Amino acid sequence: DTVGGNFDRAALAHPDREALVECATGRRWTYARLAADVDAVALGLRAKGIGRGDRVGIWAPNLAEWTLTQYATAKLGAILVTVNPAYRSHELEYVLNQAGVCLLVAASRFKSSDYAGMIAEVRPRCPELADVVLVDGPDWDELLMTGRQGDRAVLAEIARELDPEDPINIQYTSGTTGFPKGATLSHRNILNNGYFVGELCGYTEQDRICIPVPFYHCFGMVMGNLAATSHGACTVIPAPAFDAAATLAAVAAEQCTSLYGVPTMFIAELADPRFDQYDLGSLRTGIMAGAPCPIEVMKDVIGRMGMTEVSICYGMTETSPVSTQTRADDSVERRVSTVGRVGPHLEVKVVDPATGETVPRGETGELCTRGYSVMLGYWAQPEQTAEAIDADRWMHTGDLAVMDQDGYLSITGRSKDMVIRGGENVYPREIEEFLYAHPDVLDVQVIGVPDEKYGEELMAWVRMREGARPLTAEAVREYCAGRLAHFKIPRYVHVVDEFPMTVTGKIRKVEMRERATRLLN
Ligand code: ATP
Ligand code: MG
Repeated sequence: DTVGGNFDRAALAHPDREALVECATGRRWTYARLAADVDAVALGLRAKGIGRGDRVGIWAPNLAEWTLTQYATAKLGAILVTVNPAYRSHELEYVLNQAGVCLLVAASRFKSSDYAGMIAEVRPRCPELADVVLVDGPDWDELLMTGRQGDRAVLAEIARELDPEDPINIQYTSGTTGFPKGATLSHRNILNNGYFVGELCGYTEQDRICIPVPFYHCFGMVMGNLAATSHGACTVIPAPAFDAAATLAAVAAEQCTSLYGVPTMFIAELADPRFDQYDLGSLRTGIMAGAPCPIEVMKDVIGRMGMTEVSICYGMTETSPVSTQTRADDSVERRVSTVGRVGPHLEVKVVDPATGETVPRGETGELCTRGYSVMLGYWAQPEQTAEAIDADRWMHTGDLAVMDQDGYLSITGRSKDMVIRGGENVYPREIEEFLYAHPDVLDVQVIGVPDEKYGEELMAWVRMREGARPLTAEAVREYCAGRLAHFKIPRYVHVVDEFPMTVTGKIRKVEMRERATRLLN
């Protein structure tokens, strides 16, 4: 099947059910209305010459127009290039040229981001970019008007030509470890992933899914939008960009049954001073993914937010994204402490990065995944693709994991974040989990910093709870003494208000290491 075909079937099956709600503006779409608007956008883009294989960029926060563009481009067989809304002109220029974008759909501005200004600045240096459509101005209205006069039957003809193996998306990775790479994904990649994620969440047309995670990333557009439409559910956009209070308000007002987030988002929601004023009684499930989640936070998500069936998903953009997921019938212990088992029709293995041999259960190694979800490759980067995907189609994730006897996986960190202190391998995750239990600690991250004697030393970056006194290195030493091996006790403690983050809400340890190294010198 294709993404467009799947969407049409949902629209036919549930024409009068709500499909999309945008809380910031109060706009609402039933499936029938959404389908009509998607077709109008598709025909409007077609009138501008867009067809199969053309790269169409989208650069906007979470607006309804994002969703419309996602389905409209899919119906034409065009390749949607999702551009991070936090980018600035330099990164925009790179992506537009790297992917050869010929038409860019964009917001003209949002908060302090003057998208239109940045587009105007880079345009002379983007020879392939022929057209720009601003969604919050006359361009968009014109596109819709042209499209509404078009013949919807043309789209059915186009649909017959499309192949599920066609590339449909170029999604840039979060840029947690370096410059983002353009993972190229097919209809088959993302449609299956959205469907199975929704299946394991038990979605039906009764579900209302609150999506505060960005659409530009597969967490929003695949696990959110495609999981919703492939089960006839409704997506609720709480705000254009993450806002803890707006998210809680949206869940309460729209009676959402499911809520998504990376750990930092749930931490912010749970710590919101007005948390108790929102009635979250409608929540049943949701997804936590994208970064390691402290066990205590998972317990609060289940207990205080009432998301009793919440799943943890593990994956990466390159695998469309989900590879493993916890299920509602897993034990609570496993649901808070592991990333679950491998998803339907996928394979995983944990290998010794040096030899490539599978390690025994219970031992740490690099996680590899294989199956329908593995991307076609990085766009126009064959060497990078060959480094990531081996001859047997295994995707080497760069993540460290342990598999238990029953096949449940735990992510112990990224291979690049592992610290080697005096010859001992130290996994920051373990120390973070330990310090997180300290009553004054709101959030904590541990990194390795260069050290003459040991090669690397540990440094903890701590965000304090409101009113708590800043932790000192000495206090941390006392707290850990006798409970953590001496080589795992952070030598340095740095109290901060915020961690450096990607727009997907992930902590950029690379930047922390750079700043820490400067701090120590
Ligand atoms: P880049 O590849 O550009 O450095 P990134 O890897 O953060 O950025 P994504 O594809 O958005 O880009 O994220 C995938 C990564 O997120 C995984 O490789 C893994 O490190 C981490 N991750 C995802 N889900 C989980 C999870 N449930 N637990 C722990 N880590 C996770
Ligand atoms: Mg990555």
